[in-house]
Formats: sequence, C-alpha cells, structure tokens
Amino acid sequence: MHLYGTQEVNETGHLTIGGVDTIDLAKTYGTPLFVYDLALIRKRARGFIETFKQLGVKAEVAYASKAFACVGIYQLAQEEHLSLDVVSGGELFTALQAKFPAERIHFHGNNKSYTELELAFDSKIGCIVVDNFYEIQLLKEISERKQQHMRILLRVTPGVEAHTHDFITTGQADSKFGFDLNNGQADQAFDEVKDHEYLELLGLHCHIGSQIFETDGFSLAAEKLMNKIGEWKEQSNFECSVLNLGGGYGIRYTEEDHPLEPQDYVSEMIKTVQALAEQLRLAMPEIWIEPGRSLVGDAGTSLYTVGSHKNVPNIREYIAVDGGMSDNIRPALYDAKYEAVIANRASHNKTNTYTVAGKLCESGDKLIVDAPLQQAEPGDVLAIFCTGAYGYSMASNYNRIPRPAVVFVEDGQHQLAIQRESYENIVQNDLPLSLKKSE
Ligand SMILES: *Cc1c(COP(=O)(O)O)cnc(C)c1O
Repeated sequence: MHLYGTQEVNETGHLTIGGVDTIDLAKTYGTPLFVYDLALIRKRARGFIETFKQLGVKAEVAYASKAFACVGIYQLAQEEHLSLDVVSGGELFTALQAKFPAERIHFHGNNKSYTELELAFDSKIGCIVVDNFYEIQLLKEISERKQQHMRILLRVTPGVEAHTHDFITTGQADSKFGFDLNNGQADQAFDEVKDHEYLELLGLHCHIGSQIFETDGFSLAAEKLMNKIGEWKEQSNFECSVLNLGGGYGIRYTEEDHPLEPQDYVSEMIKTVQALAEQLRLAMPEIWIEPGRSLVGDAGTSLYTVGSHKNVPNIREYIAVDGGMSDNIRPALYDAKYEAVIANRASHNKTNTYTVAGKLCESGDKLIVDAPLQQAEPGDVLAIFCTGAYGYSMASNYNRIPRPAVVFVEDGQHQLAIQRESYENIVQNDLPLSLKKSE
C-alpha cells in the first residue's frame, strides 16, 4: 500500500496522518471529512522555492488556489512564502479575509467581470493575467477612471498539447483561454497594451494543461514564449521581466502515475529559458510558476463511513459511503482513479474487490470502480487517498447534501479548517413562495 506524506499505520492497525489517528478524527468531526497533511504541503512548497533559490533564479511560486481554497490554506501559503493565484472575486475575497499580502496575488480568468476587476484594483493586487480583448478594454476603462497603475501579464495559448486527459488540456489552439500565439492575436494584444499609461506589461503567461508528467511540454511552451518576447524586443524594444509558465505538474493518484519531483520540472524549464535568453540576447526574466494540484493533491485524504453493501452476483460488489460526487466530482467528470484503504483495518491484507459508490442519485456516482480493499463492514471508515486538489473546491450541494468538514493535521495536532455545512446552511438562502397563485 502506498502511503503519502506523514501517513502511517499505527499499532492498532489504524491509518494515521500527521500523527493523528484517522478513526479518532472521524469520531470527533464526523464523516465525510477531508484531512490535510500540512507537513506535506509545506514540503512541496519548499521543494519548488528551494530549487529556484539553488539555481539562483528570481521566481514567484504562486499557489493556484482553485485546487483548494479557504482562509486557513491561504494563511499556510503565506507562511510558506508562496504567492497566490485567484480566479474569481470569491477567491480574491477569501484571500483578503485571510490577510494574504495583496501584492503577491495574481488574478486569472477568461471572463472577469467589471466588479471583480474593480475589487482587484481597490485591493491593489500584484498582477492581473489578461485573457482577452474585452478584458483589455475593461482594464483600460478602470485604470483610467481610477488613475491607478496595474501590472499585467498576457495569457497566451502556445499551441502546445500536454499529454494528459483531453478535458483538462488547455494549451492547444482550440481553447477558451488566452490570446493565440500563432495567429496574430497575441501581437495585437501586445500592441493594445504596450504604451498604455496605467497598464504595465510584465511579460507572458501560459498554462499548458494539468496532471502532466513530462518536462517536454513545458520546455516547448517556454521556447515559443521566449521567441515571441524576442520578436517584441526587436520590434518595440520590449523588456520582458516575467515569464509565467503556469502549473500542471502531475501527482501520483495510483501506481500507474509516475510524477517527477518539483526540482526536476523546475530545473528543466529554467535551463530552457536560460539557454534561449542567451541565444536571443534577452535579460533572464523572473520565472513564475503556478502549481495547484502538486501542492495540495496528495496531502488531502477523504474519510467516509461505509454503509450499505450490494452484491451483483458474478458482476461486482458495491459498498456505499456517506458522500460521493457531491464532495468529489472528479471520477464522474474526468474518469479519475483513486486508491483507498479501510482505515480501521489498514494493517490487514486487501482480500476483497469493491466498487465504492456514493450516496447521490446518479448511477455514475462511483468513487472507485473495482478497488482492492480489506473486508468492509457497515460503520468502517474508508479513506480515499490524494483527494486534496479539486475535491472540496468542486463540492456541491447536489441532493441537498451538506458539504463536508475539512481538518488540518500536523505534529499530532488537529484543527477544523472548514466547518461541516448544516441543514440550516442548506436552506439559508431559500425564500418562501410569495407570488400569488392565479385563479
Ligand atoms: C488550474 C490552473 C493552474 C493549476 O493547475 P494544476 O494542474 O492544479 O497545477 C495553474 N495556472 C492556471 C492558469 C490554472 O488555470
């Protein structure tokens, strides 16, 4: 069995995380429950930051917080000297609530509203990653009206296809994100912003996909961006100070995944950029990266309580848990695969094969198909590994199921980071019918 971070199996055969017994956590906080191993998140963050330091390259490592956003994780990101990517007014508001330093917040999105952009100006965030021509127009309007400067990057699509699941690839030309690098749109965007009084163009951004296991895609993208920067330097004497190469570093969900260490991704892309800077006689830009999944993904574990069983003779045996696609949509959305363990019997052999079903009213609500597991009984605690990214952050109230609680664990301590939703929370925005029935 593959254990992540600080996970261990204790003398009573229970899975522990951060020195805390998961069965105790399930009793204390209830299930479903997300448990985050803070030591592992810190280790991943330091892995990225240290690599840049060792190679002597100026950098910002921005946590792409759509992977998992809440006040507590933003405070941890600040403690670890990360910068922050937000993609909505809601994430920005959360970051401000967490007192995250505004100058290290970067704002993304393909349809930022006027109100969201105003909030970004008013809170004086560090950078807006500009996605499209409409946004350029809004930014000009707002910055001129407020007479306020804003640092920007242009998001481009370099036409690099990362080898990953189709649904989560964003680098190719047919993308809703960014200015196309090859058809003249990026050049037009450059012309529109380069001499603006209040918009300060730092450089270019790209994000070529997610759950990527090779460095080739990043290097190829870096090359295309650097070549464009070289053109602009020649034509307009543009000095690029920042090259943002996005996130997308893969993690291990199952034994089929073989991720590289943060160091490997980073040093490979730095080498490429340094070589190109030299070749094109450009100053070495600061490198910004945006890991999301690779910072928090394997640090999160979901705990569920096992309920009903159903045996379909000669086909498969189901066990159902007290959550499902409402707290983890990834299996239904991306056909994502996970590994699991019966947390109160973690030292036993995996003698059974169960399909883990959720409790939502959808046949597709299966968290794991044909999972090798220990014998499971009602009341057992099932732990699904590696649910830290795009789990809670994509949770919904489908079937009016309250969202789970989230706890942080570290060094034998535990704390609630997000409370479990109550039924009262579920109805709090509902209003009674007030329109009169027509006779
Ligand atoms: C989602 C996203 C990321 C993070 O991707 P991961 O695969 O979680 O590392 C980074 N940058 C941008 C622009 C994104 O949209």
